[in-house]
Amino acid sequence: MQTIRDLSQLRRVRGALRGKVAFVPTMGALHAGHRRLMEIARENADHVIASIFVNPLQFAKNEDLSRYPRREEADAEMLADTGVTILWMPDAATMYPHGFATTVTVSGVSEGLCGASRLGHFDGVATVVAKLFGQIRPNIALFGEKDWQQLAVVRRMVIDLDLGISVIGVPTERDADGLALSSRNAYLSVEERRAAVALPQALDNAANTVMMDKPIRDAEAQAMQDLENAGFRIDYVAIVDSDLRPAKTLADADRIVAAAWIGTTRLIDNRAIKATA
Ligand code: AMP
Repeated sequence: MQTIRDLSQLRRVRGALRGKVAFVPTMGALHAGHRRLMEIARENADHVIASIFVNPLQFAKNEDLSRYPRREEADAEMLADTGVTILWMPDAATMYPHGFATTVTVSGVSEGLCGASRLGHFDGVATVVAKLFGQIRPNIALFGEKDWQQLAVVRRMVIDLDLGISVIGVPTERDADGLALSSRNAYLSVEERRAAVALPQALDNAANTVMMDKPIRDAEAQAMQDLENAGFRIDYVAIVDSDLRPAKTLADADRIVAAAWIGTTRLIDNRAIKATA
């Protein structure tokens, strides 16, 4: 695996690659969820390029940019081990040089849910992903379903801008108790980690409730109650349709999505709602 920090070198090395190139953007502090993305990338392409860049544009001023975990060496080892060919590690000056003035905004799908509680977040995501796509020019790109709204934003952007990249969504990797793996789980105290399992459990219960044809809003309310009982402060819990709008009927209900705080850590999760035939 070659670690590259310089854009002209990236272009040279990328230009020499033949065959299908898969790209997996990350912010580092890698875990088994990221590993899964790399493995699926490897299965679907001749070369895998991963990036590690903690993108300041997608953090609001009061968010955790400065304390976001950074583990370059362990990350590089893990990536090499999964067959990644190139690790792209630009710094902020390479990504956003003096005079940088472009913002990519994907309206509609960016606006509710995390977009409402993290203002500017998806502009930051869309801008950095568009830029990384331009630098790497991949044939396919992989994103986790854990960040369900992010996946929808990227899909929309790729369609709208005719980027010609196949976006593959990868199912969420979880710990044995069901908590979705996340770099931010490192912030949790032992007690918070124990309580955090209430998040996937609340979503599972609500999804099962909806599938039994109970009212959607009751299922959401129950999930919120479960989370509050476990000590979470809720950002949102919503049962949404495939366009991430509030689902009105069981037939519309595609996904239950949630974001909630435990202590000073904000966790997100989602799961499919599969209506019984
Ligand atoms: P991040 O480093 O958090 O920006 O995540 C990089 C990519 O890994 C994103 O596409 C995430 O959706 C994906 N990802 C993060 N956690 C998981 C997980 N538990 N399972 C699958 N993919 C994940």
